[in-house]
Amino acid sequence: MSALILGHKNPDSDSIISAIACAHLYKLRGLDVVPAAQGTPAPETAFILERFGLEAPEVVTSVAGRDIYLVDFSDKAQAPCDIDQANLKGIVDHHKLGDVTSTAPVECIIWTAGCTNTILKRMYDYCGFEIPANLAGAMLCAILSDTVIFKSPTTTDMDRKAAEELAALAGVADIQALGMELFKAKSAVAGCTPRSLIFRDFKDFNMNGSKVGVGQLELVSLDLVADIKADLEAELAAVKAEEGRHTAMLLLTDIMKEGSELLMVSDEPARIAEGFGKTFEGKNLWLDGVMSRKKQVVPALEAAFRK
Ligand code: MG
Ligand code: MG
Ligand code: MG
Repeated sequence: MSALILGHKNPDSDSIISAIACAHLYKLRGLDVVPAAQGTPAPETAFILERFGLEAPEVVTSVAGRDIYLVDFSDKAQAPCDIDQANLKGIVDHHKLGDVTSTAPVECIIWTAGCTNTILKRMYDYCGFEIPANLAGAMLCAILSDTVIFKSPTTTDMDRKAAEELAALAGVADIQALGMELFKAKSAVAGCTPRSLIFRDFKDFNMNGSKVGVGQLELVSLDLVADIKADLEAELAAVKAEEGRHTAMLLLTDIMKEGSELLMVSDEPARIAEGFGKTFEGKNLWLDGVMSRKKQVVPALEAAFRK
């Protein structure tokens, strides 16, 4: 059976496009691999696949007995629950080092770039393989998505350079315009249930023994969710109660104002607020300049839970 190249749970565009881009590269290297995803594409990813004529990867939720490569994560909490029975062959990622391990030597490329697809672009260059135009376009979109059109503090010069080179390969003349189109697609909330919005981009973290779930919605304007905030909060309470979570939170990120409103239901809201250097006064916190879960929110939570 082919080895799986698999992104994280509640797949975002980077995890799905990096599985496709990594599989294409590894096939060129002569490896027997197939891209996979732990779910179906969210609206933004569907836009990218449609725009560049790519197929959504096969949905896989069980990996026992399979050879697997991970892309865009290395945390067990974001893996299929039977990951311990899989054979880990490699990782390509740009997050904090997770807790997976292996029984045989692995190929790991982990770099502090803003996007897994930026690392993959370098891997193509390193190996001397060409990236097809449509795949380059999709990889460019993944970079625009993960770096929030280069506004996120996770953005590096390597991301800007990779984006420019991918745009040239894809024949994209206006990178910013493509980014806005992408975020308009990502901002689609009409007709979506509060639950599907919370889980559209949701990750659980083990914070010093406490399970903390963090969802994020990146929107071109928070006006889009003004009427449904109470419903989102009610659903967050249900999400918290499930799976014994200590906290369930949702970051409503305004990509134009460059900050996030934090909705949370928590056993210790004051402690969480303190992690962000704020005092909890019973209402939603506005976190100015906070756009990145991995670089700003997770470290703040880790600080809060270390105390
Ligand atoms: Mg991701
Ligand atoms: Mg990513
Ligand atoms: Mg993201």
